[in-house]
Amino acid sequence: MKLKYVCLSFFKEQKISFFYNKKEERIYFPCPICDETVFLEIESANWFCQACDEGGTLKVLINFSNTGSLSTKKVYNPTKEKRDIRILYKNLLSSTQDEKLKSRFEYFMNKVENLIEYFDSEDKMTS
Ligand SMILES: [Zn+2]
Repeated sequence: MKLKYVCLSFFKEQKISFFYNKKEERIYFPCPICDETVFLEIESANWFCQACDEGGTLKVLINFSNTGSLSTKKVYNPTKEKRDIRILYKNLLSSTQDEKLKSRFEYFMNKVENLIEYFDSEDKMTS
């Protein structure tokens, strides 16, 4: 467990775009060589890029950070996307006085929320 915090704090401190998937125990981040999204296994602190064959342990990433060559590319973060969708929805809702349109937005968002909930509970079941 301790290794998890070492890994997570490295990504935070280096301000690398990352997504921590609790279920998979993996940290997704952009490859320092080719920007492809790769993951680091928490258990071993190993990572490997299928696209450019670069990889190694967390130590290899620390070496990249020491030479200032970590990627600044953003990785897809589902938690952030979920937050953004809810903000966008609120903005849409407040952008109109049309009650009919508002109720259609609500209907739509309800479907989105149900889908999110479905995938969230699916994650819980398989973890
Ligand atoms: Zn790569």
